Amino acid sequence: MSDQPHRLKPRTIAAQALGTIDPETRAVALPVHVSTTYIRDPDNQYRTGYIYGRPDNATVRQTEAVIAALESAHEALLFGSGMAAATSVVLALPPGSRVLAPQVCYWGFRDWLINEAPLFGYKVDLVDFADLAAVRAAVKPDTKLVWIETPGNPLWNITDIAAVAEIAHAGGAALGVDSTVATPVFTRPLALGADIVMHSATKYLNGHSDVVAGALAAAREDALWTRIKQVRGHHGAILGPFEAWLLLRGLRTLDIRVRTQSESAALLATRFANHASVSAVLYPGLPSHPGHAIAVKQMSGYGGMLSIRVKGGERAAIDAAARVQIWKRATSLGGVESLIEHRASIEGAGSPCPTDLLRLSAGLEDVDDLYGDLDRALRAANA
Ligand code: PLP
Repeated sequence: MSDQPHRLKPRTIAAQALGTIDPETRAVALPVHVSTTYIRDPDNQYRTGYIYGRPDNATVRQTEAVIAALESAHEALLFGSGMAAATSVVLALPPGSRVLAPQVCYWGFRDWLINEAPLFGYKVDLVDFADLAAVRAAVKPDTKLVWIETPGNPLWNITDIAAVAEIAHAGGAALGVDSTVATPVFTRPLALGADIVMHSATKYLNGHSDVVAGALAAAREDALWTRIKQVRGHHGAILGPFEAWLLLRGLRTLDIRVRTQSESAALLATRFANHASVSAVLYPGLPSHPGHAIAVKQMSGYGGMLSIRVKGGERAAIDAAARVQIWKRATSLGGVESLIEHRASIEGAGSPCPTDLLRLSAGLEDVDDLYGDLDRALRAANA
């Protein structure tokens, strides 16, 4: 592998999966390496860097190399899910460390932070990252990790990555950014000062709703990153080779997929902003969104996710979601098919999500078909 692809644009890196050719056959699509173990040299050495499948797999490493290049990272690691990736960052911290995380973010990770991280001896504080003075005040001497998600589920709050990086570092903490929704196409957290970027690769990186995977990418080899590698190895949290291969295939179209999804989301946001049944549209690309100015500063596109708040309240929102025909009524996001979800129903008790909110993941369908389908469903639900 030459170092030339790192100077290329993300679209080229992704489309050619770094341009790597199989050395044996000259194949442009790489094989799936499934072996769980590797031959030791006769003189008792392991020279290839491959010993055992739990930490070592060539297909996984190839996919990691593409993600690292896309994030301009020192290195990337793949995990069995986004949750495995995010929780591994916390579990790599020294015992008793404090973590500062958002009040509103992906509910599964928030739930783990609140209810399970303390069982491992970690302390967790939640803060509104829109209030930088509050963030500064919340970083305590034992805070070792500041975790943000931007845009953040399901209100698409935007956090100023560069400002929070400065605050975290001044307090002696590392900054981790869940960049699942932004993708490396629209935001480069490491270039803005983050130490670790995380993706639920289940979403846009794979993009076809057929793989559960997670990724971390690090700015440098430091003590935290070395510990994360140990945690992944010991916990066996590595992604399987078939999933890594599918993810590599999905990544080849990442750039073109997310740009199209972002264009559709922007159009839908504008059109639903004037809809009689919609009280508010939450999309960072709209000037009315509270995070718009920061989004303009740190994003080169606003992504494929938006939420609408339905005038008729919870019942009308659930009713509208029940009436769509093209949108798929399902959780998750970032696939080629558009998804609609009454988010409060899945987050359950204690969720900060408004009950009149429908979360929309714009796919690759024709945007007029998408608008028409949801427009009809909203009108019928409010009738
Ligand atoms: N982060 C975000 C922003 C997510 O939306 C999700 C899943 O919905 C996760 C993390 C967790 O990822 P996974 O489902 O791959 O474990």
